[in-house]
Amino acid sequence: MPPGDTSPCAICQGRTATPISRINDYTILRCDNCSVCFSDALYRVDLAGLYTKSYFSGQQVSTGYADYHRLSSALERNAVRRLRRLEGLLGQDRALLDVGCGTGEFLRVAAERGWQCAGVEISPYAAEYGRARYGLDISEGALTANLFPTHAFSAITLWDVVEHLPDPLTTLAICAQLLKPKGVLAISTGDIGSLCARVCGRYWHLFNLPEHVFFFSRRTIRDLVKRAGFEVLSIAYPSSVYPLGYLLERLYTSAFRRVRSTPDFRCAWLVRCNLFDIMEVLGTPLHH
Ligand SMILES: [Zn+2]
Repeated sequence: MPPGDTSPCAICQGRTATPISRINDYTILRCDNCSVCFSDALYRVDLAGLYTKSYFSGQQVSTGYADYHRLSSALERNAVRRLRRLEGLLGQDRALLDVGCGTGEFLRVAAERGWQCAGVEISPYAAEYGRARYGLDISEGALTANLFPTHAFSAITLWDVVEHLPDPLTTLAICAQLLKPKGVLAISTGDIGSLCARVCGRYWHLFNLPEHVFFFSRRTIRDLVKRAGFEVLSIAYPSSVYPLGYLLERLYTSAFRRVRSTPDFRCAWLVRCNLFDIMEVLGTPLHH
């Protein structure tokens, strides 16, 4: 795609963007107006169609997870930390919507801690898995304004989801309507402005293409959250735990993007890790 020739920026409606990197068959562009980075997969890939069963368990290289279910105990530990933070802010007001809830691991842990839980998930496979396996209330499809009553939730979470969305501004604006006054929005996403991302360049482990279409920095995520109708409460870089095998798998697929098969790294030993390149953003709705 030549410079200056794109559809309007999905965040600011700016008309021009500059290519900054070429990774496999995709071009990463930066909006000339608001500086948000995005991949041209936005215009030419059926994003919703990516999340089949094989995305979660299909041994695909450089897209999806070799085995998402193997991550379960790590996801649970990370979920408890995140829920404690939300509980500290909200007390006993525990009505949660998890957008892009996947197979429902976060919601399952939340339900055990007394949260009233709902989820939205674009992948039919993952939504059905969460309903059947954990009995969760998961709506299949994208988040739309009429899916829930306004002010229905005290917390709305998007864990590693906002970078997958074709229109993150509209999705977050809907979240602002669905949150109660003083409710909390929580987002995690990679930081393309981090030292790790800048040192790794095109080998950065969060250039998962084509499923990641937006790449935010502290500045552009703050801008997005504000445009959607929130006040930003904090941006932090907490550590998470991962199975060692998963870290090796991520390292391997980042370094060898064109290799067609990934070795089977089975080690389930949990490792606490922080590259300070994943942001957790908390916000609260501005106008009610
Ligand atoms: Zn823009």
